[in-house]
Amino acid sequence: MMFSRPPLQSVSADFLTRHKVRAAILRLDKIHAVISGNKWYKLKYYLQEAAALNAGTVATFGGAYSNHIVATACAARLSGFNSFGVIRGEMPEKLSHTLSNAIEYGMKLHFVSREDYRDKAAIKKSFKDYYWIDEGGFGEAAAKGAGEILDNANLDDYTYIIVAAGTGATFAGVIKKILPHQKAIGISVMKNNSALTDQIKSLLTKEEQQKNFDLLHDFHFGGYAKKNNELIDFMNETFVNTGVPLDFVYTGKAFYAMKILIEKEAIPANSKVLFIHTGGLQGNLSLQEGLLKF
Ligand SMILES: *Cc1c(COP(=O)(O)O)cnc(C)c1O
Repeated sequence: MMFSRPPLQSVSADFLTRHKVRAAILRLDKIHAVISGNKWYKLKYYLQEAAALNAGTVATFGGAYSNHIVATACAARLSGFNSFGVIRGEMPEKLSHTLSNAIEYGMKLHFVSREDYRDKAAIKKSFKDYYWIDEGGFGEAAAKGAGEILDNANLDDYTYIIVAAGTGATFAGVIKKILPHQKAIGISVMKNNSALTDQIKSLLTKEEQQKNFDLLHDFHFGGYAKKNNELIDFMNETFVNTGVPLDFVYTGKAFYAMKILIEKEAIPANSKVLFIHTGGLQGNLSLQEGLLKF
């Protein structure tokens, strides 16, 4: 498949020099134009299983702005599957960029009311010949694939690994891979998602649950896909200073968290931080034009 290796970019920024911390960004946003960042890694083992089962259609669930939906549509097409997306809510008059893109990649969309969306088992049952991937791609195959993200960096060199968390499958994959001298920090992008820790632990063995990781809940900026001027200004400033585009749903919040943790010295001097850029830049298309400088 047409994926390139994610480049590793070292960051220079005032807050890093001032606090004597070094940081590098693993640019998963660069691996593919559409299947942004972590989504390809999360899908990889599901698609392998679908192929082994001779499935014709790969199906999944998501909202109108789900990066997972468009990534599944594109990855399914590239792997020779049909795709089917169950979308939460009635069909809108104007489709989001995400959904239009999914259709372009051949995904058949099936809109269901918010109430019906909750009963995923019933939906799966009515399309039982499809190969189903859970909402957001959450599951063990996703965590296994996401762990391979770290094969792209000289993992040993770092003391902190930071990544944004939605379902937490990617973070679980990272926790599986970290070494004893390292700490993994996940930044939850939802407000008060207190179930997330258990969700992550469900993908970890007993031993992995004892590893050094922390899930932070203070950087959601009002909730999932919520934003304010401070976040947008920070994303623009980061782009001007480093050339790295961030998205407002995941990586913008996680990168902001990294800065605050370094300024508070929760990440102490002489640390070496690996920030995983999980992609998701297509999400910025839903922002008002002109807000971002990239
Ligand atoms: C989906 C996504 C995440 C979250 O991944 P999970 O495995 O669901 O935690 C993080 N960043 C971006 C850009 C995403 O699209």
